[in-house]
Amino acid sequence: MDLKSLIRDIPDFPKPGIVFRDITTLLRNPEGLRYTIDTLAQKFQQAGVGADYVVGMESRGFIFGPPIAYQLGAGFVPVRKPGKLPAAVYSAEYDLEYGTDTLEVHQDAFTPNSQVVIIDDLIATGGTAAATVKLVEQAGGQVVGLGFIIELRALGGRQQLPDVPLITLVDY
Ligand code: 5GP
Repeated sequence: MDLKSLIRDIPDFPKPGIVFRDITTLLRNPEGLRYTIDTLAQKFQQAGVGADYVVGMESRGFIFGPPIAYQLGAGFVPVRKPGKLPAAVYSAEYDLEYGTDTLEVHQDAFTPNSQVVIIDDLIATGGTAAATVKLVEQAGGQVVGLGFIIELRALGGRQQLPDVPLITLVDY
């Protein structure tokens, strides 16, 4: 399936000069949504990646993470923006183009040494995913795979990530 044709390019969003890859047009397409979830899950299975938990990052990792967890027979753990999770958290700060951002996970989210797959809609610089890897490890999980619908290759994000299967469906 030609997933790229279902992803909409929005020039100058959120800032002038940036082309935003809009996945809402993929989500609203029934065949596109089904293909995206089924194919990512199958690629993990083909790579021999099993998971106890799938982690998704706020906000678009919350859309794709849970159905992939369901397919893999795993639980879902949210990684959220600061101040949103109610129990004790670990926090990881990471660099943005201008300034920093923070992500959090519940300290008791994982059983010790559980296998964790991280899912987000898109990898650009890899900063968000690298911060999430740190959080998973701090909370006692072991990252065994990462999956993204879209990879912006020129930004080299995958170099920041551990040497485990990294699965993507569309490249720019
Ligand atoms: P990174 O931390 O890898 O530089 O940026 C990836 C994060 O920013 C992801 O959580 C992703 O949702 C968001 N993001 C950055 N650019 C885009 C874009 O063009 N389209 C979408 N859908 N998300 C983006």
